[in-house]
Amino acid sequence: MSKVKFYEGSYIESDSLISQIFSDFNFDFKNKRVFIKPNLLSAHPPEKGVTTHPSIIRAICKYLLDKGAIIKVGDNPSLLSNDAFERIGNITKIKEASLGFYTDITKNYRKIKTRIGELSISSEILDCDILISVPKLKTHILTIFTLAIKNMYGIIVGNQKSQLHYQYPSPMEFSEALIDIYEIRRPDLTIVDGILAMEGQGPSNGNLRELNILIAGDNGYLLEWAIIGYLLDKNPLSIPYLNIAKRKNLFNEKDLIIEGNYKKVKDFKLPSQKINYFLNNILGKNLIKLIYHPFRYQKIKIDKNLCRLCLECVKICPNNALKFESKRIKYNKSLCISCFCCYEACPYSAIKI
Ligand code: SF4
Ligand code: SF4
Repeated sequence: MSKVKFYEGSYIESDSLISQIFSDFNFDFKNKRVFIKPNLLSAHPPEKGVTTHPSIIRAICKYLLDKGAIIKVGDNPSLLSNDAFERIGNITKIKEASLGFYTDITKNYRKIKTRIGELSISSEILDCDILISVPKLKTHILTIFTLAIKNMYGIIVGNQKSQLHYQYPSPMEFSEALIDIYEIRRPDLTIVDGILAMEGQGPSNGNLRELNILIAGDNGYLLEWAIIGYLLDKNPLSIPYLNIAKRKNLFNEKDLIIEGNYKKVKDFKLPSQKINYFLNNILGKNLIKLIYHPFRYQKIKIDKNLCRLCLECVKICPNNALKFESKRIKYNKSLCISCFCCYEACPYSAIKI
């Protein structure tokens, strides 16, 4: 059996919420190497709701240090510039919240052989005794949600993340790859920051939604099952990666025990690509593969007034669809594979769908 528990509260109550979570999910942290993996997608301040809130990370660090753990906090973000580690740490305020343990995990990695090829995975993730994943509750224009499973995509170092989009351009194939990556190292505990959530066109440009809730669980699939199915009142099997994981027998919802209080959110807005969601809902697992593709040819647009020519989008684009030419970003639609890596990475929300 696997427990998922809901904790209602606000950021100013982070310390007590986190203490409660660790008393419900019991670990012996003494002298253990504990890695804390927030969602540090890009360089956005906490009030934008793009990254895990620093008050949650600070509360986790304080608790673990008090219990004698040896902690590290970090992520492989989508920004690829040399100053990304410092810039993201400072702007998201995660560096300060990590109490001196904010760690650059992009430098040390090991190659791991998987079904989808050899992947470069941060050594800190592979070597820790206890892995705590702390995603943000957000929608995602490609995968519908980014929660427990998608947060672990950040264990891959450097631009291999965008290369995988190139390798697996359809959302179904990409979702299957997500599962492979999650299975490399399942977190021991996942705490979802749903206090300030994001709906609509997430993960970086959606609308903020105060749900005032943290959700914790030791099985990421069942945690998502509870969040999507119970809290957000959607069909979890219409989310491609959960559908695939279910077919692979990676979880059984009969094992789920739900505890804690939550108010059902009946009007949580999915990305406009929700056509995929409904098609999945109606057509089920096989037909969706055939028809999924045509609905994903949405293209990006760069708002020149917001663009600051930081070139992050150019660096991350896996198919050279973006180039810096004549002092502006040039977009070659025919090369675009609609992976939306640029949309995720842009620190100034200058890219629209
Ligand atoms: S659109 Fe402009 S601001 Fe955004 S990542 Fe590209 S260059 Fe930077
Ligand atoms: S332009 Fe953006 S959406 Fe298109 S392939 Fe490049 S990164 Fe992906």
